[in-house]
Amino acid sequence: MIIRICQKIFCMPFSLLPNYDITPFTTFGVPTYAEYAFPIASETDLHTLVSHAHDMPPEWFILGGGSNILFSRPIRGLTLLVDIRGIEHLHEDTREVVLRVGAGESWDPFVSYCVTNGYGGVENLSLIYGSVGATPIQNIGAYGTEVSEVIEYVETVDLQTGEDVTFSREDCRFGYRTSIFKSPAYRRYFITHVVYRLSKNPQVNTSYRSLQTALATKDISSPTIADVRRTVIELRQSKLPDPAQVGNAGSFFQNVHVSQAFFAELQKTFPDIPSFSITRDIIKVPAAWLIEYCGWKGYREGDAGVWPYQPLVMVNYGKAGGQDILDLSERVRTSVWNTFGLWLEREVTVY
Ligand SMILES: Cc1cc2nc3c(=O)[nH]c(=O)nc-3n(C[C@H](O)[C@H](O)[C@H](O)COP(=O)(O)OP(=O)(O)OC[C@H]3O[C@@H](n4cnc5c(N)ncnc54)[C@H](O)[C@@H]3O)c2cc1C
Repeated sequence: MIIRICQKIFCMPFSLLPNYDITPFTTFGVPTYAEYAFPIASETDLHTLVSHAHDMPPEWFILGGGSNILFSRPIRGLTLLVDIRGIEHLHEDTREVVLRVGAGESWDPFVSYCVTNGYGGVENLSLIYGSVGATPIQNIGAYGTEVSEVIEYVETVDLQTGEDVTFSREDCRFGYRTSIFKSPAYRRYFITHVVYRLSKNPQVNTSYRSLQTALATKDISSPTIADVRRTVIELRQSKLPDPAQVGNAGSFFQNVHVSQAFFAELQKTFPDIPSFSITRDIIKVPAAWLIEYCGWKGYREGDAGVWPYQPLVMVNYGKAGGQDILDLSERVRTSVWNTFGLWLEREVTVY
């Protein structure tokens, strides 16, 4: 089978990279190989690839910055490495700017570019890892802001047909850490560019309590977007491990949303359980608190662990395999289920 695929690949106008080590392209840092890899630098690369699909391995996987994925086994088939670059100004006036950004640009340097140029809207999302192309997928969010607030539309190539398809903000069906691109039927769309509408007269969003407190501690009463970016970075660095030092993918689980009635029942047994109102009937329960209550904060088994300063984060202290981290995370969520009857959904994609 492998010999047959290699022969076919040999006949194609480009070559795939066999047995490719993608460990450095992931923030968990667990050793992982792709059966074949191919960097995508433009839509044309995708069109060419799709037109040769009959000669390709049948399974395709898209890898951005690898900061929201845990690999528990080698990646079969073809891994597409997102490498489409560039920031293009589509429109600019005195009030706003519309930027079309290549999916392979790194997110945080893009945020830095915006803040330096006075474009507001993404400063609360500072120091989130990964690529621009992945930002709509789970509608990245932090410190009271979600990226869907500034996304105008998303450009994709359908990997089944080779067609260019644009998704408006409404088409994306954004929700809490989710969008249409998370559903299995839409994984065939390779996001090539994201278009953002940013304000040149930004209203900073300091509604998030810990951000407000940190700004107040620094005596900043009228923060600029640069103040917000700096403070968010400081807050994140105090809580989250730097993937260059300790492998991780940020929050491993999502916060839990429950009905008011269910929450009232929980409160009878757990009077200290924290909560935040989302709507009149929907309550958010912080997953970090649930995990800590079950005694996992700082727990370590070999090189797999639960981060001592933020128990939502599963970590690789060095030589943990993907399966070790996955096994530990399953025990964490089973114990939360057994204690509270709440099932933690993963934020990280497990492959
Ligand atoms: C320390 C740390 C802190 C973090 N904090 C936050 C946070 O505060 N908020 C938050 O929301 N996230 C956070 N994350 C998670 C992560 O950084 C984001 O989800 C990020 O958007 C993932 O981008 P990526 O390029 O690394 O995606 P990857 O991990 O490479 O991919 C994620 C998924 O998207 C798919 N995909 C990637 N690129 C494309 C594309 N161009 N087209 C189609 N599909 C694609 C992949 O197949 C995969 O299923 C954090 C991660 C780390 C390591």
